[in-house]
Amino acid sequence: MKNTKTGGKSIVGVVDKRACCGCGACSVICPQSCIEHVYGEHYNFPKVDTEQCVDCGKCLEVCPSAFLLNGTDPGFSDEPAKASFDCYLIHSPDDSIRLDSSSGGFITALLLHLMNKGELDGGVVARCNREDVLVAESFIAADRESLLSARASKYAPASSCTVLADVLERPGRYAFVGTPCMIQGLRRLQELLPELQDRIVLTIGLVCAGMASREGTRAYIEEQGGVNMADVRRICYRGAGWPGRFRVFGENDKVLMDRPLLGGSLDHVVPHDHYLRCWNCLDHWCRFADIAVSDPWTDEMVLNERKGKSAVMVRTERGREAVASAIDSGDIAAESITIEEMLSYNKHLVIDSKHPRHGWMAGYQLMFFYRLRYLWTVVWSLLRRKRIGLKTTLKARLSRKYYC
Ligand SMILES: Cc1cc2nc3c(=O)[nH]c(=O)nc-3n(C[C@H](O)[C@H](O)[C@H](O)COP(=O)(O)OP(=O)(O)OC[C@H]3O[C@@H](n4cnc5c(N)ncnc54)[C@H](O)[C@@H]3O)c2cc1C
Ligand code: SF4
Ligand code: SF4
Ligand code: SF4
Repeated sequence: MKNTKTGGKSIVGVVDKRACCGCGACSVICPQSCIEHVYGEHYNFPKVDTEQCVDCGKCLEVCPSAFLLNGTDPGFSDEPAKASFDCYLIHSPDDSIRLDSSSGGFITALLLHLMNKGELDGGVVARCNREDVLVAESFIAADRESLLSARASKYAPASSCTVLADVLERPGRYAFVGTPCMIQGLRRLQELLPELQDRIVLTIGLVCAGMASREGTRAYIEEQGGVNMADVRRICYRGAGWPGRFRVFGENDKVLMDRPLLGGSLDHVVPHDHYLRCWNCLDHWCRFADIAVSDPWTDEMVLNERKGKSAVMVRTERGREAVASAIDSGDIAAESITIEEMLSYNKHLVIDSKHPRHGWMAGYQLMFFYRLRYLWTVVWSLLRRKRIGLKTTLKARLSRKYYC
């Protein structure tokens, strides 16, 4: 019989325990179509119509966050040694692509190259929704114009896996761009839906520290003053060179706000109320993607680089072929870097067994499940005087309207 309190075998428990990262994979697999993906005030999350649910358990099977209900081990199999990955600093030689991208425009240039070559019919990417500008809307870009309109990072919850329902309806070969957890959701879906293996032929992961709540953007714009949210038609979190600027546009692309990323929006928007799931994340480097991409955050780059370069880690043979083809054609310009350099750009995201994250995860287990066997990890983290994220966990635990 179905356990209605925990949602039985469905993902109701994942949402109840604030473990969801809003990837959207569950709504794609549900045979009853009884999962609605909600774009809430703060985060995206699924809502199950329990009357229609037949408790088949498929949604839980594809969920990249369900492991948190059972402990702190995401159950990843061994990955190849990072030393075997080729790494590069890459930029698009075309300034009309490069300057309004996040870093060097690598992702957009690579997708355009593969589409022009006839190897891709499009890519799953994200753009600012025109009706609700705080929503990062995932969609299939199938031509140059739509790809360009989707350039640059959206520091707001996106649900890239929801678009896989459209991909299933649309024969062709596509690339998938998303955060590491979205790529985990995709991989799990591909195990259950073989047609998705043929349709998604390349995965590009965005090295990710966390997904900020929509409130972060709203609060920043309101704090800066002078802009009425009702007048906003488009938000660009990055672009206008590197590290770039945070810009808000109104009707007819009139600039309503223009602030530097560093010392401005990066400090206010990006760290704003990440999903609690992000504090429990062990995959910032896109271990299931063909290619992982990040910003090369070094003092030297921040001081001297004005156009941007993307730091690229090629993790699979498929990724290697795609990057080599774009380099050979001159559609991207690349210089090799070492894996150590690649990791050093985001040192804080390299998580080893001593990282305080294990303490945060233990805190989560204590708060939500009273699992005392993790108590020692929390105490040990405290003894080592590391922050353990208990405040975040406690806040999420006590907030009745977390996903709203
Ligand atoms: C939420 C988030 C957190 C990040 N955290 C870090 C970090 O901590 N450290 C770091 O070095 N880099 C981080 N990145 C990656 C970095 O900001 C750039 O995305 C990366 O350097 C690629 O730049 P590019 O110029 O090659 O890409 P571009 O050519 O600009 O293309 C970017 C592509 O990503 C897609 N995209 C943008 N936002 C999203 C989203 N939210 N969900 C799905 N797809 C999206 C766009 O539609 C576009 O296709 C993060 C990105 C995101 C979205
Ligand atoms: S029917 Fe199956 S997939 Fe759909 S919500 Fe219920 S358990 Fe999940
Ligand atoms: S993490 Fe993804 S699959 Fe899991 S409940 Fe949330 S939206 Fe659904
Ligand atoms: S930090 Fe982890 S859980 Fe959060 S958005 Fe990034 S990949 Fe997903």
